[in-house]
Amino acid sequence: MRSFVYTGLPSRVVFGAGAVAKLGEEVERLGAKRPLVLSTPGRAGMVAALTKGLRIAGVFDQVVMHTPLEAANQARKLASELDADCCIALGGGSTIGFGKAIALTSGLPVLAVPTTYSGSEMTTIWGISEKQTKRTGRDPKVLPKTVIYDPELTLDLPPQVSAASGMNAIAHCVEALYAHDGNPIVSLMAEEGIRALSKALPIIVSEPKNLEARSEALYGAWLAGATISTTSVALHHKLCHVLGGLGLPHAETHSIVLPHAVRYNYDAAREAMARVERALGAAPAPAAIYDLLAKLSLQTKLSDIGLKEGDLERAARIAAEAPYPNPRKVEYAPVLELLRNAHAGRRPT
Ligand code: NAD
Repeated sequence: MRSFVYTGLPSRVVFGAGAVAKLGEEVERLGAKRPLVLSTPGRAGMVAALTKGLRIAGVFDQVVMHTPLEAANQARKLASELDADCCIALGGGSTIGFGKAIALTSGLPVLAVPTTYSGSEMTTIWGISEKQTKRTGRDPKVLPKTVIYDPELTLDLPPQVSAASGMNAIAHCVEALYAHDGNPIVSLMAEEGIRALSKALPIIVSEPKNLEARSEALYGAWLAGATISTTSVALHHKLCHVLGGLGLPHAETHSIVLPHAVRYNYDAAREAMARVERALGAAPAPAAIYDLLAKLSLQTKLSDIGLKEGDLERAARIAAEAPYPNPRKVEYAPVLELLRNAHAGRRPT
């Protein structure tokens, strides 16, 4: 066994159908008396139902995507005006992002109740966008102290959003398996995360209200979040970041690029790929991931989500310019080939 470093992150997880009934108890356990509840306008009804009978300081239900600084500052101001002593982030990665923004400047503890598969609740990573760019960083202060996973809250997450978000979580697990700073503990979580998500997502797409599958997917999303929190990302995430800068949607881009990024690294990360194949129950990994996308009725071509052919060379150049650890050397010509294949939606072998 190679030597390695493992960092365990201290969060308390309460998992299960109906677990959100313990919200009051968990707030109390944090020693908080004046929680500020955060949500998107779309989840405001859920907030009203779940906080009935709970003593709260107030609600900020104006969360938007990408944590724009101005909106984050409004939430921070409200937390301070209300003298809040904790934040309850009830929603997806965007809502949890607002909780982290408040925690970053105030140190307030965050209690997260995730309703998507972003995995953000398990990470120390924060992001704030300002003037078209997103600043990100890692800070232990922003890691939610408590996470309540209640699969019942995810039953209404639309099947296609669930599928793309779940594939994004699978991408976190795959890259953790070949991360230069990976370790055997994270690999256990990553393999189990891929297994759980790839088993649950096809069921969710055909039966969105299947509680068993929803539970399995949420468990996989937790594991996926835990894997990215302590390992570095590689080619796949860097490419998706570049494509995101060109205006492509986050989760869908991850889904489409993943089989091709896995093809790129396949021969250079044999042990990781064997784990991916074991978790998926199919091989070779690039084709198996591509087939999973098709099974989930997800798009398989970058051209279908708005990437223009004329942008391929520019994206390949940006991705190849900045050096970062990746199992296989990141070079312009093969990265361009990867992007061309993803653009056209070719099935990798
Ligand atoms: P999201 O939080 O923006 O949610 C998408 C939409 O779905 C919202 O309108 C929301 O109201 C709605 N929604 C949420 N839960 C629902 C439910 N159960 N039923 C019906 N509708 C529901 O999307 P997301 O994919 O969860 O998060 C994306 C954001 O999270 C991005 O900004 C990304 O950068 C960030 N993120 C951060 C980390 C991290 O570690 N910091 C990790 C992953 C993602």
